Amino acid sequence: MTSSSKLPKRKFDVVIIGAGGSGMRASLQLARAGLNVAVLSKVFPTRSHTVAAQGGIGAALGNMSEDNWHYHFYDTVKGGDWLGDQDAIEYMCREAPKVVYDLEHMGMPFDRNPDGTIYQRPFGGHTANYGEKSVQRACAAADRTGHAMLHTLYQQNVKEKTSFFVEWLAMDLIRNEAGDVVGVTAIEMETGDVHIFEAKTTMLATGGAGRIFAASTNAYINTGDGLGMAARAGIPLEDMEFWQFHPTGVAGAGVLLTEGCRGEGAILRNSTGERFMERYAPAYKDLAPRDYVSRCMDQEIKEGRGCGPNKDYINLDMTHLGAETIMKRLPSVFEIGHNFANVDITKESIPVVPTIHYQMGGIPTNIHGQVVTQNDANESVIVNGLYAVGECSCVSVHGGNRLGTNSLLDLLVFGRAAGNHIVENNSSLTHTGLPENAADATLARIARLDEATDGEYAQDVANDIRTAMQKYAGVFRTQAIMDEGVAKIAELRLRVNKIGLKDKSRIFNTARIEALEVENLIEAAEATIVSAAARRESRGAHSVDDYGDTPEHPNGRNDDEWHKHTLWHKEGNRLSYKPVQMKPLTVESIPLTVRTF
Ligand SMILES: Cc1cc2nc3c(=O)[nH]c(=O)nc-3n(C[C@H](O)[C@H](O)[C@H](O)COP(=O)(O)OP(=O)(O)OC[C@H]3O[C@@H](n4cnc5c(N)ncnc54)[C@H](O)[C@@H]3O)c2cc1C
Repeated sequence: MTSSSKLPKRKFDVVIIGAGGSGMRASLQLARAGLNVAVLSKVFPTRSHTVAAQGGIGAALGNMSEDNWHYHFYDTVKGGDWLGDQDAIEYMCREAPKVVYDLEHMGMPFDRNPDGTIYQRPFGGHTANYGEKSVQRACAAADRTGHAMLHTLYQQNVKEKTSFFVEWLAMDLIRNEAGDVVGVTAIEMETGDVHIFEAKTTMLATGGAGRIFAASTNAYINTGDGLGMAARAGIPLEDMEFWQFHPTGVAGAGVLLTEGCRGEGAILRNSTGERFMERYAPAYKDLAPRDYVSRCMDQEIKEGRGCGPNKDYINLDMTHLGAETIMKRLPSVFEIGHNFANVDITKESIPVVPTIHYQMGGIPTNIHGQVVTQNDANESVIVNGLYAVGECSCVSVHGGNRLGTNSLLDLLVFGRAAGNHIVENNSSLTHTGLPENAADATLARIARLDEATDGEYAQDVANDIRTAMQKYAGVFRTQAIMDEGVAKIAELRLRVNKIGLKDKSRIFNTARIEALEVENLIEAAEATIVSAAARRESRGAHSVDDYGDTPEHPNGRNDDEWHKHTLWHKEGNRLSYKPVQMKPLTVESIPLTVRTF
């Protein structure tokens, strides 16, 4: 085995792993300040999953209806079923207009109103006057908002001379004896060589792990690598039981139809043609938060009112919007209907089912993006040298359920905040040197794969993980199913350890990359199922049949015992908990209340 000291090394002020919206918003801030910054990505930056975001970015600009950030703050706390940290939520909602105008000034091609202001559409769970009426808060570029945003950020980074390392797979964080993070190891896909990136600051911006599920709206690259890296480095993962099912994935295909469809007026109908959401959510109707709409759809299907020959999907009806609005506001949705369901959405309804979409949990951070762990007194302690932003992180603005448009916002607000915080502190930081064993763990992982003469095929194990997660951690959970899932995932971990590689070649060996990714999938999957089985209540997206609506625990939520964040630790496969931050930065706290729809 090669030793760590012989590997090629590079030195930067900051190394960011991930070129999605969050990574590139942070790198832009750093490059503009003159820092030497490298961004690593498995794919060309503009192919990161952010490019697929359709609907919009939430910000209380008030361009089209009365709005202010206090309403946005309230909606986000309530939408997250009071599990979000109110300091971080306040910060995000207050900063929202600023980061959107920043983007506008960078040249982001937003849709426009006749008066020249940014076009905003309604979105699920977003209201004015504390739930009284719907509001137009989602800043949109047709149904290609993420595409426009990612290209804008990439162009700005090129201008500021950010160094991109494209088609590199970051593998493991390097921690020194003091526990500080001093860099990362990465494999160059083209050559198969392992390199060491030494950095004063390392940032994880690796996106979500939606590919731990079989039916997912997520890109194939969303394998939760940052979660795996953090878990292997001894950092716990927060609130991983909370996974969002998006109500409108194309049935059978998984491809997303943005909530912007319902924002523009689309309606969900059951087999009798009924607009059933009026019955479940008289106030919000089709624009209730995603966890609730998904559960209502599932309920309709369970009660025999699903559509189609097998009564197993719901119809999304956009025919009344008119071809002109559809082609102007939802052109990609029109194409998706045609390509993935063979449906002309201007003339007929399209079959949809709730589909895995987003992880609310992730690597715990504070509002500067610094990764934190808990000490023995359960106080947050900063991990020096490590930041996390975007979907892989959990600053906990989304709590138990994210509102649509709040993720793109989270990327921009906390990407920028982390960048600013690093710039402020960079002059007092130094390269402290690499430990002798910097890459030993990485080299051992690769050596194991190279030495295995037989073993399991990585894709088979990955598929079994996905099928298991779909079955044991779905929209509706039961205690028995989750308990069974814990045992099943533990068995699958043993199989991950036995993965072998038939093709040992080095040049662009995608089988090796996939095998390494499965080692990340299993961390995200185990964190999810173990955290879920332990939470004995229903809250947000974590809905368990055994914990239903009772007078004592409305909606099945049990605040006395479970109003707290979960932390899953890889070592010992154990859990601990930390309090929810109920104190905002400047305004009054929104006290725990029963969530109504
Ligand atoms: C179909 C779809 C539509 C959506 N629509 C919206 C919307 O309208 N509004 C909204 O607010 N949210 C939306 N979301 C959610 C939102 O888009 C995502 O949460 C967000 O874009 C994630 O951004 P990110 O920067 O965290 O990571 P990503 O954009 O996922 O990027 C991750 C980056 O990390 C890199 N990476 C990962 N692992 C490694 C590794 N080991 N080594 C090197 N590089 C690595 C990848 O190459 C990539 O560059 C949508 C999500 C999906 C899937």
